[in-house]
Amino acid sequence: MKRRDLLRGAALAGAAAALPAAAFVRPPETVADKPLGKIAMEEHFMIPDFMEYFARTYPNINADIARLAPGALMDFGEQRLAVMDEHDVQFVVLSLAGPGVQAEKDAAVAQRRARQVNDFLAGEIRKRPVRYGGFAHLAMHNPPEAAAELERCVRDLGFQGALINGQTNGEYLDLDKYSVFWERAAALEAPIYLHPGNPVDHPATYAGHSELWGPVCSWNFETATHALRLVFAGVFERYPKAKLILGHGGETLPFSLWRFDSRWQVCNRGGRTLAQPPSFYIRRNIAVTTSGMCSDESLRCCLDAMGAQNVMFSIDYPFEKTGLAAQFIEAAKVAETERVQVASANARRILGLDRQTAACPPSGRARIENKG
Ligand code: MN
Repeated sequence: MKRRDLLRGAALAGAAAALPAAAFVRPPETVADKPLGKIAMEEHFMIPDFMEYFARTYPNINADIARLAPGALMDFGEQRLAVMDEHDVQFVVLSLAGPGVQAEKDAAVAQRRARQVNDFLAGEIRKRPVRYGGFAHLAMHNPPEAAAELERCVRDLGFQGALINGQTNGEYLDLDKYSVFWERAAALEAPIYLHPGNPVDHPATYAGHSELWGPVCSWNFETATHALRLVFAGVFERYPKAKLILGHGGETLPFSLWRFDSRWQVCNRGGRTLAQPPSFYIRRNIAVTTSGMCSDESLRCCLDAMGAQNVMFSIDYPFEKTGLAAQFIEAAKVAETERVQVASANARRILGLDRQTAACPPSGRARIENKG
């Protein structure tokens, strides 16, 4: 039995008294009459206490989005579920809209508030366990504490992993001090979704071009660079079971794999070594989603470069339109086997949904007839 199964078993046993068994029933319950039963995992929420952090993204987005997003983000009921139902989205993994405590300077405050978010989210998941899962919100200021909170969220709250909004106080997750975190994430088989955020400074590259500061450009390259720091620092060499997820079609990385391998041979490595070419770790340890990237060209590149087993559907609700994303994957120019992999099958495997489902009572399992 794998360690994660053991951990889940322990968590289930421990939680049985406090939580209804249904809290761990996993999706989807109506997939039999739905062709794809889509699963999405870059789907955001907000709670009022965290608006002060969210407001720091206003320079990155237009005024209409800033005004309209909080209402949609704070709804966990009719509005969110109606949009999901309309477009055959069976299950979404929810995460706090950034930057959250990644933008909090005070480590103790960040740790306390992250725990508050996770407890809140667990409450919402408990109300609709067949529709909602969760990614933990983590204060990365103190790596051992972040590892402990990740484990609490996965073991005790039934979350699928964590979502981190980029750097914290100017520090990136490849630093040695984060080894304890990666070791724990790998042991739990908990994927870490690296979500865009702003760097601590405002590089001259973007001066005078507010349109480049955010989703058009800076977020892609900030996040792609962060992921490459992990690759070249050897994080995935040391923790082969660690899994990173990148949104937005892999933040441009899939397009550049050949060049990473080629130029790694001639660049100034500063003493860095890797046993395998960079693309080996990117393909083995990174999965990508289609969030905010409804493009046949991008999807074909992701499937071919990363392998069809590493590409997953997502939306980026409410910042992107669910209908647009759903119609894109339903009609994308890919093989039917690839469509099923992207829409739900890869997510079930990478998020460990079937392992969670297997722990359910038979009454729960009977409803889950999928073609994963
Ligand atoms: Mn997002």
